[in-house]
Formats: sequence, structure tokens, C-alpha cells
Amino acid sequence: MKITNVDVLMVTVPVATPRPEQAGRGLDRPRTWVLVKIDTDEGISGIGDSSQPSGGGSELTGGILRIMRETLIGEDPNNIEAIWQRLFRQYTYAGPRGPITRAISGIDIALWDIKGKALGRPVYDLLGGPVRDSISLYTHPRTGTPDQLAESAKGLVAEGFRAVKTDPYSPEMGSKSNAYMNGVISMEGLEYGAELISALRAAVGPNIEVLIDVHANFNVASAIRAANRLEEFDITWFEEPVQPESYQALRQVKENVRVPICVGERLFTRYDFAPILEGRLAEYIMPDICWTGGISEMKKIATLAETYYVPISPHNVQSPIQIVAGGHTMMTVPNFYRLEIASLQMPNYAQAFDGPLDIRNGELYLSDQPGLGIELNMDYVTEHSEDGWGPSRA
Ligand SMILES: [Mg+2]
Repeated sequence: MKITNVDVLMVTVPVATPRPEQAGRGLDRPRTWVLVKIDTDEGISGIGDSSQPSGGGSELTGGILRIMRETLIGEDPNNIEAIWQRLFRQYTYAGPRGPITRAISGIDIALWDIKGKALGRPVYDLLGGPVRDSISLYTHPRTGTPDQLAESAKGLVAEGFRAVKTDPYSPEMGSKSNAYMNGVISMEGLEYGAELISALRAAVGPNIEVLIDVHANFNVASAIRAANRLEEFDITWFEEPVQPESYQALRQVKENVRVPICVGERLFTRYDFAPILEGRLAEYIMPDICWTGGISEMKKIATLAETYYVPISPHNVQSPIQIVAGGHTMMTVPNFYRLEIASLQMPNYAQAFDGPLDIRNGELYLSDQPGLGIELNMDYVTEHSEDGWGPSRA
């Protein structure tokens, strides 16, 4: 089998209407996915996801994918590991972790899809076979006032979700993760965050897991103060306390809080996760399968974490391809905690594919179809592609 074509697709999907008070905070902007469709001379095609829209990420990743495209034509798509290694090492002087691994991720996911279809098996079978029947999910209540947050979280619990995540500091800090300057939050912002989580905990009761994401918006002092302030609400994790560059800053936070720490959406490949695990810097890790290196790399990071008894909980807010890619991998991972899902957006996302995902009672059930078991709706893709980033042929 030979690769005959690689399409880089930039597809913009409308988002569910946010509350009026969320307008202008980025939540009302459409999502742009960067998808990879790889065709072969045997008529089998695979799809992958390299999406990362924030901060111009779509154009950056799309451009890299178009450069990589030229080196993939004529390759045997079965050689997933060899292709991964070649692409990663080819950019060793550019710095292969970050935009390069985002591009590799989409290619890797598409190649696993092709391999599954060629062999007639779901991807999880190729990764060692399932160790569970379904994938436990967590999702996000709509933000708003304490009462609105609490009401939305109760709705998710009624749908069957057993874990919810929110950023209670976003009213003051929401714009900072792409514009970090000093990591300072006001006393009012800290106290309002505690008020939000107090209302959320009271609404969902003691048996629901409450996850806190602070989007790396804090400096060390603010992170420690915020994490300790939320301890009384029995939070499951405190995510990305500080920006990702300094492991020593993370260590300083870790040594001064009693709540569990989760990091990893801005870490790329097993090489970025090794110091986290060796240094005991987090109780949970959360690689993003579209950013960290795809299915191949996610499986390796999971196994690395398994040796430290650290659970893995993939970060996951891009397309349904990402959801099923993470799902197939986590079906085979013993130390899996939960997969993230943007549940409010799923009805919109379903239009771009051959139907909705099977999500019931806070669990994702994967199809036993060959490959990833999901297909793009090419009519939708053609209609919603950005100019110059559509399918190359019908
Ligand atoms: Mg996060």
C-alpha cells in the first residue's frame, strides 16, 4: 500500500450559542479544526486531527502539514513508527516539540485509521485490545454567576456525568493564557472563584468529582493561594497552576499545596512528561492526542505514567476525531482516569461526521468498526472549509 494524497482541511464549525454574559470572552467564536485526510492506492483513506486554533495555531499547523505532505506521498502507510520517527527527527534543529508534534499527531492518527481499516479491526484491537467496555468522560458546565454555574453542573450530573471541570478564575484571568504577563490575580478575583466553587460543590453534592482548571494563568504565589483556598471544596485536581516552561515553578507549587495537581496539555511527547513523572510533580497527567504526537505517542506516555502509578486523562476539546482517537487509545490503557469532552458542542460537531458519537450516562461507547469507526461528512467539510483549505478532490 502507498500513500497517494494528503489533504489538509481547515473546517470551521459554529459553536453552541453561549450565554449573553459569555459574549466576547472567546466562547462565542466558531471553532476551526485542522484535519488530515490521507488517501492510499488501495482506496482506503484515514482521518486525523491536528487542531489547535488559538493564537494562530491553525495556519501554523496547516502550513507545516503541507510541507510534510510532500515527504509522505509514496510511503507505505503501515510504517507508522518509522514515519513518526522520521518526521520528528527531521525537525530536530527547528525544535520538534510543539507545532511539529501537532502536525505529526494528525498524520499518526490518520495512519492508525488506515491500518485498522486495512486489517478490518478497530484501532483499540491493534493497540493490545480493550481493558474496559467504555470510556468515562468529564465535561464542563456553562460558566456564569455562581447560581448559573451550579444549575448547569446539576444538569450535567442529571445526564450521568460524574465529573465536571471549570475555571473559576476566568472572569478575571480568562484572557491571560495567551497573554501571560505577571500571573497576578486580585483578592476579589480569588474570592469570587471560591464563591463559584462553593456553589458548584453545594449543587452537585459530595459524590461528584470537581476538577479545577486555571489555564496556567498564575504565578507561583497566586497558584499556591488559589489551590489552598479551594482545598475545602474537595477538588479532584488543580490543573496547570503555572505556565509550562518551568518545572521548578511547578515543583514550588506542588510542595506548598495539598490538592492533587494535573498538567500536560502544553507538554509534548514522552520527553516532556518524563521530568513530571520522575520529579513527582503531578498526580494526574493530561496529554492532548492532537498535540503531543498522536495515538503512538499517547500510548507511550500512558505506559510511562503507569510505571509511576499516575493516571492519564487526555485533554480533549477538538473534533470528534480527537475524541475517538483518545477513546481507542484509552480502551487499552490500564491507568486511564477520564477523557475530556466538550459536551455542549457535540450536537453541532455531529453534523461534520457520519452521525453523533455514542455517549450515554457520561460514558463513550466506541464502535467496533475497522479503524477509528468515524467518517467525515465530505459535503459538510466542503461547505465549511476555509478558503484554500478544502478537499483537493470530491
Ligand atoms: Mg486546561
